[in-house]
Amino acid sequence: MLFVWSYWKTIFTLPMNPSKEFHLSYSDKESLEREPRGESQQEVLRRAAKDLPIYTRTMSGAIRYCDRCQLVKPDRCHHCSVCDKCILKMDHHCPWVNNCVGFSNYKFFLLFLAYSLLYCIFIAATDLQYFIKFWTNGLPDTQAKFHIMFLFFAAAMFSVSLSSLFGYHCWLVSKNKSTLEVFRAPIFRHRTDKNGFSLGFSKNLRQVFGDEKKYWLLPVFSSLGDGCSFPTCLVNQDPEQASTPGGLNSTSKSENHLFPAKPLRDSQSHLLTDTQSWSEISAKAEKGKVGMSNPALTMENET
Ligand SMILES: [Zn+2]
Ligand SMILES: [Zn+2]
Repeated sequence: MLFVWSYWKTIFTLPMNPSKEFHLSYSDKESLEREPRGESQQEVLRRAAKDLPIYTRTMSGAIRYCDRCQLVKPDRCHHCSVCDKCILKMDHHCPWVNNCVGFSNYKFFLLFLAYSLLYCIFIAATDLQYFIKFWTNGLPDTQAKFHIMFLFFAAAMFSVSLSSLFGYHCWLVSKNKSTLEVFRAPIFRHRTDKNGFSLGFSKNLRQVFGDEKKYWLLPVFSSLGDGCSFPTCLVNQDPEQASTPGGLNSTSKSENHLFPAKPLRDSQSHLLTDTQSWSEISAKAEKGKVGMSNPALTMENET
């Protein structure tokens, strides 16, 4: 039941797209079309992205912009050529579920891998004794004996491929990376950092599965955040990061800010509706004296 439920949720959960704050305004779109040169186009984009919680850049240090969707790409967001949309925290487009695996369904995808692996192991294990009897001529000579053999091979082969895929994704979760980020490390304002989003094992796990353990094994959405901005630890919170050659070398405790501006303890933030704008949230958080610190800005001020 859990296998079917998680498979269902992976297939039918719509991928999340960037909220309207990330779309260019009509006037910005117009001036972007007017500007012929790369640098003045960047100026328009920089202005549009001024209040957005964006800390990653392109290889050349430019604001990440999607021409197709005409929006400033949030961190970890990528344009899927199959869906023809920008997908929040895109992991990959999965043909097995005919859907994009991203922020909205990554937890379901992981559970789907786990439960299908358990299911295949269960089938292979219970079929094993009959499979042995098949080779020792212990089965009655009917058509059904070939079903035994086929079932065992199918279950065993899927067990092998699923266990490698599941193992790989467990490693990704533990490092807080997406499949795309393994191939191309995220580039932050100042430098590339392949572990830029890693907060340490326990926090990384909670980013995907949430704070409440009772939901971890159920395919119900419990990931933290809103998918548009992600906490990151570019300074020495994570011991792993201290040794990262790409990591920033700031050591002062006061600089240990967490991205994003949105407070982390707000675990309900994924329930954001379209009517709630980023600035409303920011204003609310500021009112509540929640830290809205922006390390990238801090660093810019320092330099
Ligand atoms: Zn796009
Ligand atoms: Zn897709």
